[in-house]
Amino acid sequence: MNYTRSSALFAQAEKVIPGGVNSPVRAFKGVGGTPIFVKEAKGAYLYDEDGNRLIDYINSWGPMILGHAYQPVVDAVVEKAKKGTSFGMPTEIETQIAELAVSMVPNIDKIRFVNSGTEACMSAVRLARGFTKRDKIIKFAGCYHGHSDSFLIQAGSGASTFGTPNSPGVTQGTAKDTLLAAYNDIENVKQLIEANKKEIACIIIEPVAGNMGCVPPQNDFLNKLRTLCTEENILLIFDEVMTGFRLAKGGAQELFNINADIVCFGKVIGGGLPVGAFAARNEIMNELAPLGPVYQAGTLSGNPLAMAAGLAMLTELNNDVEVFNRLTEKTAYLHKGITQVLNENKVVHTINRVGSMISVHFDATPVVDFKTAAKGNNDTFKKFFHGLLNEGVYIAPSAFETWFITDALAYSDLDFTIEAVKKVSKTL
Ligand code: PLP
Repeated sequence: MNYTRSSALFAQAEKVIPGGVNSPVRAFKGVGGTPIFVKEAKGAYLYDEDGNRLIDYINSWGPMILGHAYQPVVDAVVEKAKKGTSFGMPTEIETQIAELAVSMVPNIDKIRFVNSGTEACMSAVRLARGFTKRDKIIKFAGCYHGHSDSFLIQAGSGASTFGTPNSPGVTQGTAKDTLLAAYNDIENVKQLIEANKKEIACIIIEPVAGNMGCVPPQNDFLNKLRTLCTEENILLIFDEVMTGFRLAKGGAQELFNINADIVCFGKVIGGGLPVGAFAARNEIMNELAPLGPVYQAGTLSGNPLAMAAGLAMLTELNNDVEVFNRLTEKTAYLHKGITQVLNENKVVHTINRVGSMISVHFDATPVVDFKTAAKGNNDTFKKFFHGLLNEGVYIAPSAFETWFITDALAYSDLDFTIEAVKKVSKTL
């Protein structure tokens, strides 16, 4: 494939945008080479600036669950745009999408819309701190909750020591309030709670991790977390920015039949426009300004175009009772096909999948947390990524990302992909 124009556009972008991109993982640093510049997209396909067609397994990192340029979403945005693009005043559509979201997701009474998943998680933690009047939080290594300061923390040496920042600009003062646990390790969480009795406001978790590749919760981990949180008066926050409106209508709460105290959304809820949201029962949400003392705000929050896109998307997902089954079946088909061709070519690997989230790790060890995810052979991944790209299949340019399956994928696209994996696996 020819990427001449993409490479030229990247060189031009690098002069005026740091690293040529507005979000780091787009820069191909994990796999080498220069990023592909998209010209347009429709359904399951991306069309780049050099005229290549790529089957898309990123789908804007999750939002495009029904495919690109999905007609009802596009129509809703176009119609709304004609009537003004931002008012900073209440609009009826905000209540309409809120009512729909509250009806689809279990265990929430009220929802507040923001502009990104980062804002949703950041605001959820502030709300949890305000509600519990405690300062510390527990997060899990390998889980990503956006780029707000409290989440950019890596482990100290001992399980109960304070975290240390992993980005310049995050202060020690902030880092000391974020405690880090290993995913799927309930004993580790218990130790942290024990060492910080009555100081922990919340535990925030991706109920299916998607930011170290796909890592499912194991051995009743989420249930055990729920019990611990209830016993210790700690709020359990499900970061459903990836899983919300993807794994089921009601997200991971519905799939696993576990109630969180606060739920964060992003990606699908905005239909491809910049939207995040956080939601909880009345008792918690009523602490938010202007009702309560916990401040949270946004000039463009509830923006009419974003709400129109989100409402159109949620309406489609709510009305199509089969969509989540179809997505799971397509993903299972891909899983089976890829497993078969990798095994035929003796490529050591582990595939994790939940619903329409799937990832291929190049190591035989079961991937259950960040440590085991990091064991994957990155050289093999790089070859796999570039090999697939050359065949016209676009997966995330990092071994620590999940593939997002879209309903726009036809079985012929899945077969094409499996065939591409077969060709590439001979070179690994
Ligand atoms: N939470 C999770 C689970 C995510 O995957 C992401 C982004 O990928 C975020 C939060 C942050 O969302 P955003 O990039 O919209 O700020």
